[in-house]
Amino acid sequence: MIAEVIVDIAHSEVDKIFDYLCDDGLQAGCRVTVPFGRTYVAGFVMRVKESSSLSPSALKRIARVYDEPPALNGECLALAEKIAARYRVPMALVLRLFLPSEMRAGKVSEIYRAFAAPAAAEAEFSSRAKVQRELFEYLKEHGKTPCTVLRERFSGALTALEKKGLIRITRERVQRSPYADLQTESDVHTLTEEQKNALAAIASSDKRVQLLHGVTGSGKTEIYLNLIAQNLREGKSAVFLVPEISLTPQMLSQLRARFGGAAAILHSGLSAGERFDEWWRMRSGEAKIVVGARSAVFSPLENIGIIIIDEEHDGSYVSETSPRYNTFDVALLRAEYNDCKLLLGSATPSVETYMHAKAGEYNLIKLTKRINRRPMPEITVADMRREVRKGNNSFFSAALRQELEETLAEKNQAILFLNRRGYSRSVICTECGYVAKCESCDVSLTYHHEEHCLKCHYCGARYRMLTACPECGGKHLSYNGTGTERVVEELKKLYPAARVLRMDNDTTGGKEGHFKILQTFAGGGADILVGTQMIAKGHDFPSVTLVGILDADMSLHFSDYRSGERTFQLITQVAGRSGRGEEKGKVVLQTYDPENVVLRFAVAYDYEGFYENEISMRRATAFPPFTLIVRVLISAETDADALEGLKRVYFPLEKIYLENTDKFLFFNKMHAPIKRIQGRHRYQVLMRLTDRSLLPLVYAVCAENADRRWLAYVEENPANLS
Ligand code: ADP
Ligand code: ZN
Repeated sequence: MIAEVIVDIAHSEVDKIFDYLCDDGLQAGCRVTVPFGRTYVAGFVMRVKESSSLSPSALKRIARVYDEPPALNGECLALAEKIAARYRVPMALVLRLFLPSEMRAGKVSEIYRAFAAPAAAEAEFSSRAKVQRELFEYLKEHGKTPCTVLRERFSGALTALEKKGLIRITRERVQRSPYADLQTESDVHTLTEEQKNALAAIASSDKRVQLLHGVTGSGKTEIYLNLIAQNLREGKSAVFLVPEISLTPQMLSQLRARFGGAAAILHSGLSAGERFDEWWRMRSGEAKIVVGARSAVFSPLENIGIIIIDEEHDGSYVSETSPRYNTFDVALLRAEYNDCKLLLGSATPSVETYMHAKAGEYNLIKLTKRINRRPMPEITVADMRREVRKGNNSFFSAALRQELEETLAEKNQAILFLNRRGYSRSVICTECGYVAKCESCDVSLTYHHEEHCLKCHYCGARYRMLTACPECGGKHLSYNGTGTERVVEELKKLYPAARVLRMDNDTTGGKEGHFKILQTFAGGGADILVGTQMIAKGHDFPSVTLVGILDADMSLHFSDYRSGERTFQLITQVAGRSGRGEEKGKVVLQTYDPENVVLRFAVAYDYEGFYENEISMRRATAFPPFTLIVRVLISAETDADALEGLKRVYFPLEKIYLENTDKFLFFNKMHAPIKRIQGRHRYQVLMRLTDRSLLPLVYAVCAENADRRWLAYVEENPANLS
């Protein structure tokens, strides 16, 4: 027999099928090792066939077949081919999405433990064999027990009993279980009318994609759990995606409470061993539900009955590394393959999703009320211009301070949101205007007070703190802009007795960093949580009664067509963390632009109003979803290589443009807004298309001009045009 093998080298030059001789019975999807050139490389069997077009003498034989069920099932193989074609990336790169990286390198493997169990019902022991008798009695009482436990108490008796055939020792696979000591939340709720109607509406619709548009705190999670339960009863499995790793423990605890070991978790924060074991639990069919961030869409579950994407509007669902897949696209392919529904949930659906729903392409289901008819938290707008005029130059408006004091006095909790970490945004010499910048990136450095250093938020580089200006020697450095660290410092001055926690990229290191901070806060271990957008999403803290949005304008200032949408979403999401329990919640929103229309819709919780306004503007200005923005980004170690790469892709792209000018609203090449990141020089070709059908041509240009000297990739409606 002949196996068609993809070698695990992500390079376009070897991105093709290689034929190898193999034994009968080899299954597609198996991991193998094959001779390749002068060495051996890992590979995957894509198909098995009778004969090859190569002459038998040219064929080599597979060196090793891994002794396990095929790592990739039929669906994964089919999906991988579609993804590779859609994004024009080497197959090896796509296949890696489906496997824990540990498995490819062979770094991790199963762990086994020995267990002892009685092999006879009764036994006679001589008076000298007291320990043996005790061990035997112990095992009869306790049943199968790990040998390590028994050795401590009964030491040598174990071997003696095994020799006599009175006990049986077996080696069994042990699972490394992430979040093993997670508290499980077991309250099962009686569904509200709205929830029941929503479930009925989902069940009776035959649309592939369903959009659950429910205000924050309307009980969307309960609907997801019900759908998962239904599918499990029918013997099917479920994929449940959330936007943030920090949200997975919360969801896992609810899933474990209801479904026990059928729930598995998959995300990049797990240890290698845990990920490996969880993956195999799904592959073997032991686990039927996966909860995870975007990469969990590649879970090896079979017979999927429902795919859920919670907070579907979230930007984290688009991958930022090659292949730059959109989770929705992959989920839709899987939903089609399994003939199941794809449920999107959000309080603030993306404008594009909502447009499809309103047009009837997706089934639109609404939850308009919070659980128990709790009111939406009232949003007070604090006009920071007026604060400044009144002489208040602090980060906190009078209104926010008053609310904070009340919250602390009533022993409730508050969340303060600021989407910038560190202490100050930049460090500037007030004498000559010098700005501290990263050596490898064209961006200014952020001062971090706690670690007393300057950090680049693009490449992570750290620099020693300046004592004087390196240009003019001036001693007067000014710290512009506020970050979370500075807010915490200010809070500690204002309220020395308050316990303040900070949650941002600097404090959430380690495997369970997020989890620990959230657990502390949820357990009442702090009064105020200060954080970046990672605290905005999905968390359910019933004793939070105040949310402060310190700078609502920050995301409005991005010169990007989606800045209004993002601001609306962020405000609604953060505000939604308030008043989820018994007590009424409040929100203080600080802004320098209180008349801004987006803020006004957000304050009124008027999603429909926001949407109508936004979509008519997009239509009038011909921005997505009415057009498609495509960016081809070229980067290289040297400026010359980057320019060479730019030239190589620019001319074929220009040809497409010239042949289809009627389908372009914009076409130009230029420096990327940030000219250098991590030492790489960056150029871009930016296009706005009225016709998606040109997209494959653009991908093809990048793929055909791949070169070791530069990196060229395509971004569709990029969220971040830096
Ligand atoms: P959403 O995801 O829509 O923001 P959640 O699913 O987090 O809302 O639900 C908000 C709160 O209401 C949670 O604490 C949840 O346990 C609770 N809840 C959900 N459904 C019910 C119900 N039917 N009865 C009582 N409480 C419920
Ligand atoms: Zn940098």
